[in-house]
Amino acid sequence: MKGVERVLVVGGGIGGLSSTIALHRAGVAAIEIVERNPRWDVYGVGIIQPGNAIRAMAQLGLAEQCIAQGYPMEGSRSHDIAGNVVADIDFERPAGVSFPSMNGLTRPRLHKILQDAALASGATVRTGVTFSAIEQRTDAVAVTFTDGTEAEFDLLVGADGINSSVREAVFDGAASPRFFGQIVWRYNLPRYRDLNRLWMFDGTRGRAGFVPLAPDLMYILLIEAADDPDTSALPEDRLAEIFREHLAEFGGAIAEVRDLITDSSKVVVRPVETVLVEPPWHRGRVVLIGDAAHATSPHIGQGAAQAIEDGIVLAEELAAGPLPTALERFVARRYERCKIVIEGSTQIGRWEMEGARDVDYAGTIKRLTDAVAAPL
Ligand SMILES: Cc1cc2nc3c(=O)[nH]c(=O)nc-3n(C[C@H](O)[C@H](O)[C@H](O)COP(=O)(O)OP(=O)(O)OC[C@H]3O[C@@H](n4cnc5c(N)ncnc54)[C@H](O)[C@@H]3O)c2cc1C
Repeated sequence: MKGVERVLVVGGGIGGLSSTIALHRAGVAAIEIVERNPRWDVYGVGIIQPGNAIRAMAQLGLAEQCIAQGYPMEGSRSHDIAGNVVADIDFERPAGVSFPSMNGLTRPRLHKILQDAALASGATVRTGVTFSAIEQRTDAVAVTFTDGTEAEFDLLVGADGINSSVREAVFDGAASPRFFGQIVWRYNLPRYRDLNRLWMFDGTRGRAGFVPLAPDLMYILLIEAADDPDTSALPEDRLAEIFREHLAEFGGAIAEVRDLITDSSKVVVRPVETVLVEPPWHRGRVVLIGDAAHATSPHIGQGAAQAIEDGIVLAEELAAGPLPTALERFVARRYERCKIVIEGSTQIGRWEMEGARDVDYAGTIKRLTDAVAAPL
């Protein structure tokens, strides 16, 4: 690719790996990833892939693998607190897409699919390493790494997640993540009989749900209001018991499976945090993508989808060149879409925290799903 031959990707997560694969397909010769986590692994629950995420994976040549290793669905089913069915909502497929409108997949499986494709593209990966200094020069960005090595690149992609060190180091004054007021509990269980959609149940302080991940697997979730974002302060050995207690108000299918939550070491509980960096998302030869630039609440399952789309659009614009204006066009194509996702998702979250009943959850989710189904 003219003018962009050497790229450093900081962060080997969903956005970093997707952009590596997309940049390689667009003709970038040398891509290096530094990943801080020496094990380069992810925690073990699941992820929802809406239609636009599947479309984006198809553009990377990876949609079939996701569907084969996951659990395809056509929509969601809402329930009241007692477990009675309220409505089924079918999700539209993005135009021209022949895949299912949604897929559930374990995070480790998605991670492995992306890792294998990034490694097969010839990218070099150094784990347990990050940058210690970034210096912008006219014709390159010079990087010093924590292992003492140094190198120059044409472009640095900051894909290091919501607590981005690249954002911190290079984007003076940029927004920082804020606690949204909710925490999310998740736990893998055998797939509930008949579960072939995303099931949600309205509670008094939030909502519970089932997400199928494979023919034999699902995860149960609870998203609820909380005063304290520090979930690490919860007693680790009692997480299963506390999760069960917090599900106690739900009847129906939730009540049926609740007692299967027994292993505290497998409970994943995280605060919901959001951030939206005002444009531009680039400074010189450094650009932010994924959660580093725009982290949404999880209410419509769009965080990973937006990170993958970033990688695809970045590669397209760099291929159209030249570098400074390519980054401007990248941000121009991405900012409004990510903003719509964050504003819509957090609106749903606020309704959940208020226990609002006379609001149009289904219509809002459909409007947002339609918005992100539009061409990239
Ligand atoms: C509770 C919850 C549920 C969610 N559910 C969904 C869902 O169902 N569907 C969906 O699409 N999205 C979902 N998301 C959002 C999704 O997980 C994120 O949007 C997505 O992972 C963002 O990808 P990323 O690559 O930008 O960041 P990450 O996936 O966080 O990857 C960042 C990578 O950078 C590495 N790193 C961090 N700092 C450094 C550093 N200084 N140097 C080098 N490496 C570094 C990390 O180790 C990590 O590997 C959910 C999020 C939450 C919190």
